Amino acid sequence: MAMDRKRGYYDEARETMSASARRRYQAEWLRELVDLTWEKAPGMRRRLEAAGLAPSDVKDPDALVRLPVMKKSQMPDLQRADPPFGGFCTVPIGKLRRIFRSPGPIYEPMGPEAGAFHAETGYYAGGFRPGDVVLQTFAYHLVPAGHEIDESLQVIGCAVVPSGTGNTETQIEIARAVAATGFVGTPSFLMTLLQRAEEMKVGRLPFEVAQVGAEALPESLRRRLEEDYGVMTRQGFGTADIGMVAYECAEKAGMHLVDEAIVQVCDPQTGAPLASGQIGELVATVHNRTYPMIRFGTGDLTVITDERCPCGRTSSRMLGWRGRADEVTKVRGMFIHPRQVDEVAARASGVERSQVVVGREGHQDTLTLRVELAAGTAADAARAALEPAIRDVMKLRGSVEIVPPGTIDAAAKKIDDRRTWD
Ligand SMILES: [Zn+2]
Repeated sequence: MAMDRKRGYYDEARETMSASARRRYQAEWLRELVDLTWEKAPGMRRRLEAAGLAPSDVKDPDALVRLPVMKKSQMPDLQRADPPFGGFCTVPIGKLRRIFRSPGPIYEPMGPEAGAFHAETGYYAGGFRPGDVVLQTFAYHLVPAGHEIDESLQVIGCAVVPSGTGNTETQIEIARAVAATGFVGTPSFLMTLLQRAEEMKVGRLPFEVAQVGAEALPESLRRRLEEDYGVMTRQGFGTADIGMVAYECAEKAGMHLVDEAIVQVCDPQTGAPLASGQIGELVATVHNRTYPMIRFGTGDLTVITDERCPCGRTSSRMLGWRGRADEVTKVRGMFIHPRQVDEVAARASGVERSQVVVGREGHQDTLTLRVELAAGTAADAARAALEPAIRDVMKLRGSVEIVPPGTIDAAAKKIDDRRTWD
């Protein structure tokens, strides 16, 4: 099938808007959304009132900072206090199409309108086209993922096989029987299907395009999926609460933010927006008229860039998932995360174990990267690679201490914060 999966847009006018047009567009839906929640979502009205705000105070994306972030971890309590949705659903319960329950527990409503998960743009940019037959292998049981994605694919014009999780051999049989061109699910399950089909000697699976998520996609795995198996593989980022907020285009250089979400990267402690390029918590406000999450703190860490993407889309891009916000440590005003320690260690060869120790000298925070090296590794070369890597990855100056094997306990914390405050 000769189909151009790399060019084209789902909604060109919107995806290529100028920055000022995007601001106007988002300010417009934000105003309507805030007015709606003031009238119909008592939970949201309580949040505004507690902050001393009226709808007219939250007229554009910049004004949102006046509203404290609502943490995902607060949701179970808020919902228990005002069941089932915490007062955040704008629609009478009987008018909903579905009600989901995610771990927490957190209850999520699916409204009468189609496509509130906002996944269509991302699926199209990731190479899905009308006429694709798609095996959708995320769960359909209780949680929203399967149903919401299924609906987005149908809005694009794909035929969906709602196969859900597991049943490797049955999935292979189905993919071949219906000539499935698309796959949705985790990257590891996609690889399992492709490899098992090889072992079963049933011939190559017909997949041409895949949207994967819910776990990391190492570039080495993507290369195998694309080069060995010919499956164009892209990722999206979303959660049950806020839907899909970011997606990869053909360039696979970060995830474009959807225009139906106002995404801010914020200080996980104060909620204040951080400058572009800094690591912080992803805080989203989404244009979902049934379940409008406004200034919702996902607890996920990310970095955003405003640099232009060669694909022609003008939205900012999220540079991957960088861990959980409750694992960050603030050093000299910058957040550092355990994953960054691994990222630094990977820049030198021969590092067996690594750990960052945060201390205090006078009124200054100190950052020391301790590493254990494999036998025969040159200490000078490791040091020469690691010192600039600390600056590059953590945006901080730090020293490197090479310690004898066995010094860092296998169960030791990646970031050992030894500062005492009194
Ligand atoms: Zn792009």
